[in-house]
Amino acid sequence: MNATAEAAVRQAVEGFRAVHGGEPAGVWAAPGRVNLIGEHTDYNDGFVMPLALPHTTRVAAARRDDGVLNVHSADVPGDTVRLHVAKLAPGVVGGDGGDGGTGGWAAYPAGVVWALREAGVFPGESGRAAGGADLYVHSDVPAGAGLSSSAALEVATAVALDGLYGLGLTPERTALLCRRAENEFVGVPSGIMDQMASACCTAGHALYLDTRDLTCRQVPFDLAAEGLRLLVVDTRVQHALGDGEYARRRAGCEAAAAALGVRALRDVPYGELDSALARLADPALRPLVRHVVTEDQRVREVITRLDAGETRAIGPVLTAGHASLRDDFAVSCPELDLVVETAVAAGALGARMTGGGFGGSAIVLVEEAGAEEVGAAVTDAFAAAGHRAPRLFEAVPSEGARRLDR
Ligand code: ADP
Ligand code: MG
Repeated sequence: MNATAEAAVRQAVEGFRAVHGGEPAGVWAAPGRVNLIGEHTDYNDGFVMPLALPHTTRVAAARRDDGVLNVHSADVPGDTVRLHVAKLAPGVVGGDGGDGGTGGWAAYPAGVVWALREAGVFPGESGRAAGGADLYVHSDVPAGAGLSSSAALEVATAVALDGLYGLGLTPERTALLCRRAENEFVGVPSGIMDQMASACCTAGHALYLDTRDLTCRQVPFDLAAEGLRLLVVDTRVQHALGDGEYARRRAGCEAAAAALGVRALRDVPYGELDSALARLADPALRPLVRHVVTEDQRVREVITRLDAGETRAIGPVLTAGHASLRDDFAVSCPELDLVVETAVAAGALGARMTGGGFGGSAIVLVEEAGAEEVGAAVTDAFAAAGHRAPRLFEAVPSEGARRLDR
């Protein structure tokens, strides 16, 4: 265990003792993620390429044999939320709504327990002692910044319960159960990328994921060895129109696929893009199709470059991806555009928004020697534009979910 992990374990164990009394059986961790390339492709059966952040959500956990689930988060105000495993059902814990204080956040860990119970793997279904758990959550993944603190919380909960009860979950099954928790229990219609990234990523790699059949490949992405850095710029804005616009893009992509007679836009070959666009009667659908099809192609291009050891060459592909999200898919915002323009003008190799858009974070690929200057240029540009100061940190490709205290 390194010093950071040791400190995180100590904090989680002490927090658990103070809140639940007694000792946790262990401490588990799952990371947040950034997506290197492949945005708004996951609900089109396409390709994505996330990497895990060094930032994690930790869960210290102990078994209970009375069917009670006690969840406490150090990161939101409020008391421990007490639930009964047998009574968990969608709607019972309530949506989050960003309330921060009423325990709505507990829908995420409760949803994971519910999904395990529904899948028949949580103990207590067969007349034996009813399974339950005491959970203590603590995280350094910024919440609501597009870095997937929600999946980190779900996956950390799932691996903790797997550790407590020996459920034998594979990383892929863990991701699927966690997505079910988020989609059906919390009620957020997200794709599979976030949970797969948090469960399956490995250090020094980006995870190439085919979201149709969930085949993955670990693609070497060792930035430090190449003298490069990947910066994350959290704009700390989240424009309110995000949810409705996401649903509209999704519906538009489905309509376009139906009009083109394919199962999903992933099935439109890059080489046939122009003829596909010409066949679309509704001009409003064309930019959506153009983004998704070219974005899948950009994922392929990034993989080709990385496999060839040409990491610097992915920079322009990232920047082209941003232009496509801004101009065709129309999910960027002034703050994200400012990060990209400023970073590239200050010498970055490439930059783009990452995540759903309308705020959240951007990534910037930069030479190690120029990282500080580029970061300062972005911070200055935000000040000059009158925006709140952004939060900058480095994305070191890190490992996925794991037990932390061994
Ligand atoms: P993102 O996944 O991009 O960070 P989401 O809106 O999907 O944003 O998820 C954020 C929500 O997840 C928070 O509002 C909160 O309900 C829940 N959450 C995430 N991390 C924690 C945590 N450490 N403790 C409690 N709740 C958390
Ligand atoms: Mg999320």
